[in-house]
Amino acid sequence: MEEKLNIRIRDLNPHIVCILCAGYFIDATTITECLHTFCKSCIVKFLQTSKHCPMCNIKVHETQPLLNLKSDRTLQDIVYKIVPSLWENELKQREDFEKMRGLTETNTEGCKEEEDSNKEDGLSNQHLYIHDELVHVQVEPLRNGPSTRDPFIRDGRQYVRCSVRAQIYHLKKLIRKLWPETMNKEVEIVCNGKVMSDHYCLKRVWLSSWKDKNPPLVLQFYMKKKPL
Ligand SMILES: [Zn+2]
Ligand SMILES: [Zn+2]
Repeated sequence: MEEKLNIRIRDLNPHIVCILCAGYFIDATTITECLHTFCKSCIVKFLQTSKHCPMCNIKVHETQPLLNLKSDRTLQDIVYKIVPSLWENELKQREDFEKMRGLTETNTEGCKEEEDSNKEDGLSNQHLYIHDELVHVQVEPLRNGPSTRDPFIRDGRQYVRCSVRAQIYHLKKLIRKLWPETMNKEVEIVCNGKVMSDHYCLKRVWLSSWKDKNPPLVLQFYMKKKPL
């Protein structure tokens, strides 16, 4: 049953996945010249340095490419229909997170960094990110792998809430802040037993390694033996 659904989603993926971030569309936005679609924030960011469509290279607009972008609500609704778990997960996560808040909460500056670095152009990105899906993440040292067991990392876990667009390297920065003993060490982040690459966004991590599990998304980390 479940497998059938997965296959269908995979067939549809090329039509509902943004090539700029490899995640399902968030605020699907279409270039009116060629009808190629991307996440709103992905294409806006891309067009800050280019005037051409990242898929077909057509010139979006002579001078102001943003004028030829159109928000595509229908397509966005389709994404949520096709991938209902995205939406349900999000709602459930919000609920669970509210319950968990009593424990520990840290705001991830790393997740905000992308907004801050994009303020030029008089274009406040604040509103672009405000509607991002959020993912609730539990970060903790990896304790049960014999080869990776590291007595120098304090026990404990932290709960953070950040945009699905945040990437693994943002989380690494956060870990260095929360566990200062990792400061000058190379850190690996593991999700469900698999090491995650720096450029993976959390949506990709979730969909590839945590899709059938409940929130929060558990990310474990360990220090590599070799110092940097
Ligand atoms: Zn995107
Ligand atoms: Zn195009």
